Amino acid sequence: ENPSLYSTQGKTKGELKSTFKVAETMVKSLADDSNCMKFLQGKKEVIIQGELFGIKWRGMVDVLNLEKGFFTDLKTTQGIHKKYCGLTFIEHYGYIEQMAIYRELIKQQFGKDLIPYIVAIEKNDNPLKAIIKVDERYTTPKLEEIEYNIERTIKVKSGEEKPIACGLCDYCRANNKVTQILTIEEL
Ligand SMILES: [Zn+2]
Repeated sequence: ENPSLYSTQGKTKGELKSTFKVAETMVKSLADDSNCMKFLQGKKEVIIQGELFGIKWRGMVDVLNLEKGFFTDLKTTQGIHKKYCGLTFIEHYGYIEQMAIYRELIKQQFGKDLIPYIVAIEKNDNPLKAIIKVDERYTTPKLEEIEYNIERTIKVKSGEEKPIACGLCDYCRANNKVTQILTIEEL
């Protein structure tokens, strides 16, 4: 129903554009996988909110299953086993923090302690998939870390304190916060 998703010229005329072809393959790959589908059963896109460490939080759970005792977030990734400076994609993109906060908000809102899962799928035309349990070994230390850092985060948010540039992201690149004097070992 959306013509802009389809190629209008060349050999592929009339076919889905390549990025949407990949998306279609990913959806089919999940739908054909009974294990993934088990963890995608439940209420979809549930808004959760509450208070934690003195501030208000709001999130949206992809799948909430109060009866079976779990919630799931669906993530796409370049590579399930890819490492970012030694970290997994789950650690690198802050997904443990997200799952830890969601778990607490769900406890407040529904009075149930649910197990967080990530259903991950690669963005390619033959995607690898995984169901990843994010248990307390990971979420508990993250919650402590968030609590420890929250004062400063609040102050940065209100403009009371200045943020520290990461020197890597698009914003830093575009705002001249990147030039550093490095030793060869630091590259
Ligand atoms: Zn940055």
